[in-house]
Amino acid sequence: MRVNKNFLRTLCAIFVLAIFSVTACAPKYDAEKCETPIRGSGDSDKYFYCPKDRPLNFNRVIEESGTTFYYENGLSGRKIDRGVDAIKRVQAFCDVPQTVFLLEDTVTHVNGNGLWVNPNDNTELIGAVLLENASEAEFPFGIFAGVIAVLLGEEKEFTEYSESRLESSLEEYPYVKELQYPLYTARGTTKNERETAWNFAYLLGEKYLSKHTVNDLKNATKEDISFALEAVDAILPDYYFPVGDSEYPIQIIAENIHYFFAHNFEDCEFNDDLLKYPVLTTFVSENETLIDEVSPIYGLHGLPKSIDAFFGKRGEYNIATTGYSDMRRNAIACYTAGIFGHEIVHHIAYWGGNDGYFQEAICSYFGIKYSYYARHREYLDYTLQTKNRDVVYTDDVIEILKDARDLYNKRFGKSSMSDFNAETWLQFGTYLYNKNSEHPTIGVLAQGITMVQYIYETYGWDVLMEINRSYKDAQIDGKTYYDFENEWAKWIEELCS
Ligand SMILES: [Zn+2]
Repeated sequence: MRVNKNFLRTLCAIFVLAIFSVTACAPKYDAEKCETPIRGSGDSDKYFYCPKDRPLNFNRVIEESGTTFYYENGLSGRKIDRGVDAIKRVQAFCDVPQTVFLLEDTVTHVNGNGLWVNPNDNTELIGAVLLENASEAEFPFGIFAGVIAVLLGEEKEFTEYSESRLESSLEEYPYVKELQYPLYTARGTTKNERETAWNFAYLLGEKYLSKHTVNDLKNATKEDISFALEAVDAILPDYYFPVGDSEYPIQIIAENIHYFFAHNFEDCEFNDDLLKYPVLTTFVSENETLIDEVSPIYGLHGLPKSIDAFFGKRGEYNIATTGYSDMRRNAIACYTAGIFGHEIVHHIAYWGGNDGYFQEAICSYFGIKYSYYARHREYLDYTLQTKNRDVVYTDDVIEILKDARDLYNKRFGKSSMSDFNAETWLQFGTYLYNKNSEHPTIGVLAQGITMVQYIYETYGWDVLMEINRSYKDAQIDGKTYYDFENEWAKWIEELCS
């Protein structure tokens, strides 16, 4: 799909004002007081769950070779020098905006205000961001990284690998061949992964520059770069990572979803490192599979519109629950990867025109069926391990969960995530909930999910949709809703006893 780059650039570039101790050494460049406070370019009106724009106080300024540098008060002289020197080095090859902001709490990117530079970033990363910004095309970031790395020559800041070392590293990190943006940054990568990415990009840059110049890259077409991609055996995936901004450093554009991972995202349920590149891309691919599988059931071919999915820190978005779908804005906000599968089915059902009484259970059923993370979520809930504050364990619930776990272990042996079967857990849970009818409110969702499973897998989609629509008024082939409910309860009883 076509990416609107201006949209990306203006989206929520918000910075935290960091206060640092008094600088240890005087900067090489003269600084004077700047009276104009600069604001981040947060677009908080557009997305109600985007954190509020925060003002930034840049009260120092340097003029240097036609560029005005603002730097955050408190940034050390050494870091200011490093940032200014990096810009001066890449200026020979890249268009640098007239205004440059230096601050540590950012990712290097360009927006309507100018170039934002994290002086801890490598010079070649800063140059690659500028080359990417100047290009009209949506090439994988690695082409820009490779070209600038070659142009900087001896001054490159990554360790050069021998041919054999690169070969073995590529075997270890094969996804480096996808050339996507996060692989070149310190976020979510190890040093070895990153160095492999830069070395691989370097080969690509050499190939490209053997036939073209850096200026050609601005207007290059896919055909112009394909020879170089083929020469190094690059693998271009179905998703694309644009250069992030300070508020959402990691963004992914997949066929149906535009993902935004906030700078402070921490999964509220588990510490599995979602932001590691291969984990993230598996998550994205799995979500696309879910959409491909579920949308035809609702009579759709994929989603009619792309969804913006925001992953933030708990309490950051203005939502009370773990996940929230906003149909009007085609948007989802989540505190955990495990809820995404559920939320996306809400959108599919909305467009498919089949919302109904069992919708929450249907969303969870499909989420669990197609999403590892949704199953993992159930696993943590059922094994009393979740850190999600939305999940409340009262004493009676704990008793039932422990019984469900015992039943599961008795049937299947030790239950770890690798052999965890979410459907079976839910059946055991439902069985126990049904037996504890003095607590009618607990386990309602588990009951709903297993009822959806039973009706869908036994009678098919049309019957499920009729019950979803008419609920207790349903009359299907002489059966009432209660007939289906009794059948389901019997099925659960037989499965679990
Ligand atoms: Zn829901």
